[in-house]
Amino acid sequence: MKNPDSRLKREQKTLEAMIKIYCESKHRLPNGQLCEDCGRVLGYAAGKTAACPLKDTKTTCKRCHVHCYSPDMREKVREIMRHSGPKMALRHPVLSFFHVLDSLKSPKR
Ligand code: SF4
Ligand SMILES: [Zn+2]
Repeated sequence: MKNPDSRLKREQKTLEAMIKIYCESKHRLPNGQLCEDCGRVLGYAAGKTAACPLKDTKTTCKRCHVHCYSPDMREKVREIMRHSGPKMALRHPVLSFFHVLDSLKSPKR
């Protein structure tokens, strides 16, 4: 049986990796630190993932019918995904592979 906690942890790692790639190229803080805004986005998104009502039956947030994010956070995360998505396959091939698999799941209603 699948473990929903490991699925959510992996999703949080993927989010963190994408936000780091974005912040690194847009805000350029030293030593891989996240800027305050990106740290806020990560905290928000991680909280939503941890509290996701769909757990292991979920597809990716992008394809979700619930959309628990506020409109401004949803737009911010979209911007981050647009920037970091294409770079993920090279930087984090395993996370990227599972993210693609997750996105192929049909959204549950
Ligand atoms: S957008 Fe949907 S899949 Fe993503 S955390 Fe919210 S409820 Fe869960
Ligand atoms: Zn940043």
